[in-house]
Amino acid sequence: MTGDYYRVLGVERNATTEDIKKAFRRIARETHPDANPGDPALEARFREAAEAYEVLSDPERRRRYDRGDTIDLGDLFGGLGGLDEMLRSVFGDSGLFGGRSPRPVRGRDVVVHVEVTLEQAAFGADVPIQYQTRVDCPRCIGTGAEPGSRRVTCGECGGAGQVRRTQRSLFGTVMTSSTCPRCGGEGSLTETPCTECQGSGTVIQTVEVTLEVPAGVGPGTRLRLSGRGESSGVAGLKGDLYVEISVAEDPRFERHDNDLWHRLRLGIAEAALGTRVEVPLLDGGMFELDIPAGTQPGELFRIRGEGMTILGRRGRGDLIVIATVVVPTTLTLEEEDLMRRWADLRGERTDRPAPS
Ligand SMILES: [Zn+2]
Ligand SMILES: [Zn+2]
Repeated sequence: MTGDYYRVLGVERNATTEDIKKAFRRIARETHPDANPGDPALEARFREAAEAYEVLSDPERRRRYDRGDTIDLGDLFGGLGGLDEMLRSVFGDSGLFGGRSPRPVRGRDVVVHVEVTLEQAAFGADVPIQYQTRVDCPRCIGTGAEPGSRRVTCGECGGAGQVRRTQRSLFGTVMTSSTCPRCGGEGSLTETPCTECQGSGTVIQTVEVTLEVPAGVGPGTRLRLSGRGESSGVAGLKGDLYVEISVAEDPRFERHDNDLWHRLRLGIAEAALGTRVEVPLLDGGMFELDIPAGTQPGELFRIRGEGMTILGRRGRGDLIVIATVVVPTTLTLEEEDLMRRWADLRGERTDRPAPS
């Protein structure tokens, strides 16, 4: 924002905090999108004033602004309720228009589920995700009013937002008052509702965002994307998007926290005589592993630093290779012959008659 905050609010540079508040109140009443649906120029003016007020109303921020510093307000309109919070502090709980809270303060949160591969979970990835959510109607920019249409006083309640009823009963005359059903308590109505969203201010759309999956995520990791949830239709006050991560099974590896297990299938001769094998690595490479003679089923070989990335840190867990020895279930005649001779040599009893 480049404009002069003092000029935006129309106050002198030595204005008191009270002057600044008064000036903002006046501008906000005139320009708030709820009072002026479908007027982008006024909405821009409102946002500008809100930003100016946010800086000048805070003595510390104002001092830094006067000194020429750039003030980062974060995302004032981004959906953490910051703007709403600020308006409440200026106007009190009754709100900008005296007790009429036109729409929900903040859109609902949206939860989506994303499955990533084990490799993406280990090294992090940018994953595009699509989801359906309520967004500000592009035609009326969330105001619910047909562009060019005015706001008119509600005929039902005469602008009070409340309707009163008088009832006669045995005990005399009773007056009850309730929220006006026609305007929902707002006291005014849009002359012509937006043709695109039928006046709701929001439409359902498919939204695509790129999710930055951090290296080391595990199943059950929940990521929050602030302000990417549903719009409530008012000046961009949006809910958050929560992404629940699950990690797809990988036939090569089992994950145990930061370590990966790989089951290595060895033949009887390989285990007995020793061999050199290639073990798959998560990044696509291969590791040459020496299997010593006499390796037993269940024996472990640790390859350091080839496991999962440790979330939020730099290091990686290990890849643990578990030896399994595969006993053949079928033998050719020649193999069987050899096996029997071998059994004789070792004194192993194989009494069962040979299958014919
Ligand atoms: Zn009404
Ligand atoms: Zn609309």
